Amino acid sequence: MSCLFCSIAEKRVPASVVYEDEDTLAFLDVNPMAPGHTLIIPKSHAETILDLEEDKLGLLIEAVASVEKLIFESLKPSGFTWGVNQGKISGQEVPHLHIHLVPRFPGDGGSSFQGLVKNIPKESIKEIAAKINPKNG
Ligand code: AMP
Ligand code: ZN
Repeated sequence: MSCLFCSIAEKRVPASVVYEDEDTLAFLDVNPMAPGHTLIIPKSHAETILDLEEDKLGLLIEAVASVEKLIFESLKPSGFTWGVNQGKISGQEVPHLHIHLVPRFPGDGGSSFQGLVKNIPKESIKEIAAKINPKNG
């Protein structure tokens, strides 16, 4: 199976790497939304969080936090937005899990995450909570 981000993790495709550890690689997005827009990936292939080995998720989040610190100290943004497109419907183009880390600067033209989807539920919040976990019913 050919996967672009596996190829980047294996150093067969070049990337602007800003952080690396045993399980994780972080590199700059080739089509940046902002200076320092970074993608953080697990080195082992997983399409979404549902496919990732359980013990790898914590390591991935720790790596995002490490990159956030590096960017905070170097580029001095005012804040950050994290984003994870999972599944085609969400806009995932590369089917290898990646967390977008987007530094936020004054006047960057962006908005908050809550502006992304407009699908107000018809059921009550309590009903939905009970469906997700009947213990909450
Ligand atoms: P997504 O829609 O979440 O799958 O986003 C995929 C991201 O990967 C996009 O923002 C692309 O600009 C980025 N991308 C695609 N190819 C490369 C590459 N070779 N190196 C770095 N970033 C890439
Ligand atoms: Zn892959």
